[in-house]
Amino acid sequence: MSKEARSRNMARIRSKNTGPELAMRRKLYSDGLRFRIHFGSEKIDLAFPKKKVAVFIDGCFWHSCPVHGSVPKSRIDYWIPKLRKNIARAEEKDKRLKDEGWTVIHIWEHSVKKDIDGCARLVEDKLSAIKT
Ligand SMILES: [Zn+2]
Repeated sequence: MSKEARSRNMARIRSKNTGPELAMRRKLYSDGLRFRIHFGSEKIDLAFPKKKVAVFIDGCFWHSCPVHGSVPKSRIDYWIPKLRKNIARAEEKDKRLKDEGWTVIHIWEHSVKKDIDGCARLVEDKLSAIKT
């Protein structure tokens, strides 16, 4: 594998500060919203602490999206348990947040790529529905 191909691969499977996450931050910020990133002990991707709204941008790879989630062909015995654990961890995180009164929104990476305006609207609608 060439050096470029390898770094492309690494970028593809990175889990934080990914393209879609950055794009959502930029979009919401330009819409005038202010939020915290990688917030709290649960490392919420985008958090609105006052309204207790937690937004997670779920990578299609890391969260095994039904459309694009695929397991790398090499080291399959490493990846399958790792991805399963990742999903289980995310579910536990959601449960803890909901128990603490947070509204949790998950947005697929592919939704951000396809319709970032729609994704932003989803977040904005949720926020405006919550009175503080
Ligand atoms: Zn996807």
